[in-house]
Amino acid sequence: MCEEHQTALRAQPGRRAALGLLGASLATALGACSVPQPTVAASAETASAARPGPLLPPALIAGRLLNAGPAAPAALRRPGRKRIRHGFIPDFKLPPVQHGLAPVLTKIETKHPVVFLTIDDGITRTPEMVGLMTDYDYPASIFLARNFVQADPGFFKQFAAQGSLVENHTVSHNINMVSQMGYQKQLAEITGMQDYAQQHFGRRPTLFRPPGGAYSTAMRQAAAAAGIKAIVTWEAKSSAGHMDYQYGNALRPGDIVLMHFRPEFAADLAAFRGAQLAAGLEVVLLEDFLGVA
Ligand SMILES: [Zn+2]
Repeated sequence: MCEEHQTALRAQPGRRAALGLLGASLATALGACSVPQPTVAASAETASAARPGPLLPPALIAGRLLNAGPAAPAALRRPGRKRIRHGFIPDFKLPPVQHGLAPVLTKIETKHPVVFLTIDDGITRTPEMVGLMTDYDYPASIFLARNFVQADPGFFKQFAAQGSLVENHTVSHNINMVSQMGYQKQLAEITGMQDYAQQHFGRRPTLFRPPGGAYSTAMRQAAAAAGIKAIVTWEAKSSAGHMDYQYGNALRPGDIVLMHFRPEFAADLAAFRGAQLAAGLEVVLLEDFLGVA
């Protein structure tokens, strides 16, 4: 991306500027000869005066081109929900629980130009975090540990309002739970957070992230028994203000990116944003893509 665009994006973190440039860059990259005019969905959520109406979603443009077929059926567009900006022609199906084991996802195999943002723990909480996520209009899967957030669950309701979803990161965040806990204790760690999320955020999580990322067969069994649809790890992360990749040196379509609620949140999010825009990817909620919202 040229310096001029980077400057414009820094100066205007709003959704219209970001998506407009992203859409244009995608269309250019894919050789499109024209970009349709923006359309405005008739939705109370998107009609807010404080937030510009949605542009024609770039991933829909890309989805049409990549698939060389018709647009997604209207039923898949779900225009009434703010974080759904377009329809995707599904090209990834979440494996079901098999033999009592929840599937494990480290990356989503997809041709769509999408990336998934996940933010963990919940120890550090600042209004700036909410402001940045709102300004960038990034939906994220927020993996919270009960003991980290129980002093202030209201803080995270702001992210629910912004389009993100709370998911399960256990009760106590024991990073050695695989080696130190048997099945029953692991199950209690997961179900305890399921119950807490239900009570405070009105939804039972469908995704689980193990503290530290390590998982085992017993953990996969416990997660499935607790109603979890998938264990989610990552192959890219943003920390200490820069991106780290397990493979390659750039974000790829379908990457799941790990971040944390830490004091360096703004720098981490900026690093992610730079990588996301450079790769021409749109931030999409993982639960929506998997059909487990
Ligand atoms: Zn964690």
